[in-house]
Amino acid sequence: MTNLILLGPPGVGKGTQAKLLIEKYGIPQISTGDILRAAVKDQTPMGVKAKGYMDSGALVPDAVVIGIVEERLVQADCAEGFILDGFPRTVAQADALGQVLSGMSRKIDHVISLSVDKGELLKRLTGRRACAKCGAVFHVDFAPAKVAGVCDACGGELFQREDDKEETILKRLAVYEEQTAPLIAYYESCGLLRSVNGLGTVEGIQADIVSRIQGS
Ligand code: AMP
Repeated sequence: MTNLILLGPPGVGKGTQAKLLIEKYGIPQISTGDILRAAVKDQTPMGVKAKGYMDSGALVPDAVVIGIVEERLVQADCAEGFILDGFPRTVAQADALGQVLSGMSRKIDHVISLSVDKGELLKRLTGRRACAKCGAVFHVDFAPAKVAGVCDACGGELFQREDDKEETILKRLAVYEEQTAPLIAYYESCGLLRSVNGLGTVEGIQADIVSRIQGS
């Protein structure tokens, strides 16, 4: 059983690494950002409520995201483990997660803390483009689509996330520093933190993550 948290600022590569970990360990990724974006797209009551926070780069209220994760963790595909990506993002969320898991007689095994400098994060986020149809992620400079604006995987149209515009990115990074970065010390004090440099090739970073998971 491998219960993982991927911790780090927006743009550090949590989603990219989560996709590879899914293949390696056969456990699902739980991305609160992806779940919320799907709810916004489907205009569910939760999506309608969350949209304003998300578009402005603020955090969605703790109770909403804690509810999402609680519901998701009891599903059958999480029985052998899970990869939390983008959750927890506040100390209150981390406390709630601990309680939910202990109620299930489970616990977090490793918290992978990915980091890169702010200039790099800005470059990565402003150039990020996503497919409107299948969600595949590209970058105008670092991972361009073969045909500009068209998804390599499904031919869907590529777009820039509303919250990947520069002004909103700066807000999201400030929110990260203020509300999420304290979780580094939080998990370090429980002996769960595994720090990994987020700068390098996708494969190299993945290898570092796997060795930190297996080596500790
Ligand atoms: P992400 O794709 O993880 O960067 O998430 C996109 C947006 O969804 C964030 O900027 C928040 O508005 C919201 N969101 C995602 N996860 C959380 C969370 N754990 N707590 C609060 N808001 C979240």
